[in-house]
Amino acid sequence: MLDDLIRAAESDDYDAVEELADIAAADPQRLAPHLPRLLERGVLWPPTLYRGAGPDVVAQAVERVDGGRQPGQLNHLLLILAHIRDPAAEAALRRWEEQPPSGLDRLHLSPLGYAVTAGWTVDSEGRRRDLCAPVAYRLVMTPTAPDAAAPTCPWCESPLMTLLDLDPADPRVAGVLAHTGWSGRLLFTTCLGCACYTTLYSRVTPDGGSTWAPENSAPRHLHRSTEDPPALLPSVGPARTSAYQASAWHPEGSTLGGHPDWIQDAEHPDCLVCGQTMDYVALVGGADLDSGEGAHYLHLHAPCGVTAVTYQQS
Ligand SMILES: [Zn+2]
Ligand SMILES: [Zn+2]
Repeated sequence: MLDDLIRAAESDDYDAVEELADIAAADPQRLAPHLPRLLERGVLWPPTLYRGAGPDVVAQAVERVDGGRQPGQLNHLLLILAHIRDPAAEAALRRWEEQPPSGLDRLHLSPLGYAVTAGWTVDSEGRRRDLCAPVAYRLVMTPTAPDAAAPTCPWCESPLMTLLDLDPADPRVAGVLAHTGWSGRLLFTTCLGCACYTTLYSRVTPDGGSTWAPENSAPRHLHRSTEDPPALLPSVGPARTSAYQASAWHPEGSTLGGHPDWIQDAEHPDCLVCGQTMDYVALVGGADLDSGEGAHYLHLHAPCGVTAVTYQQS
């Protein structure tokens, strides 16, 4: 069955590629034996197909970039290498950051900019920093009493919604937050209406405090919602089988930890205090709220006590 899918993908069958991408998300290693052939035949999209690739595929991709013979593939090859967790792939991206490969001037990102789109970066001491947790859990929507005392959005005056209230005593939560360095209770709040137009930052404290960041800059057009946010609060559910099973599209796709499922281009916001790339914590899908579409992406920069909620839709 996998052979049939691979053959179909080679003939540009989009459904087959989608199915392969689902397999790579559930179990990245399953495609590994087939990846040399996919690379050979030029099936380079989506780059997430290659997460389970071995050193042979890395070596081939690096050689292609260094050889500079197929400039049209450079963007896809850099994305692929960024998504493979392999020392040689990381070393190549770091090397090209200093010595750009031929054709890079026509692309919009630097080699380590590609790394951020794949969920990692290099810190000021030159160490690799993973922006995403290696473990993930389903978020289960749980009805809650409407919060009459909820703070309101200073722009549109709608009540703010608590998207996540994380208890650090839960070992699953502690595992998901380990890469961020946060300890304590952690609240994510947002304005569901205004989040559609701009990144919304909050200042957070380990006692569960969350306040609207005064630096938030209002979009030019505000949508004044007359509806209260849904009386739902996600609670931590069963473990996902891999870190790549959040879904921004389907009901029950909301996920704590792991990697985001971007609807548009990857978008890891910068911390409003220090400018560093923020860590990713969770996805809450519109399909799991009453709004029905799009997805909210929850980010944290623990050293500065700043959260951000971004929103994407198709
Ligand atoms: Zn608002
Ligand atoms: Zn910061």
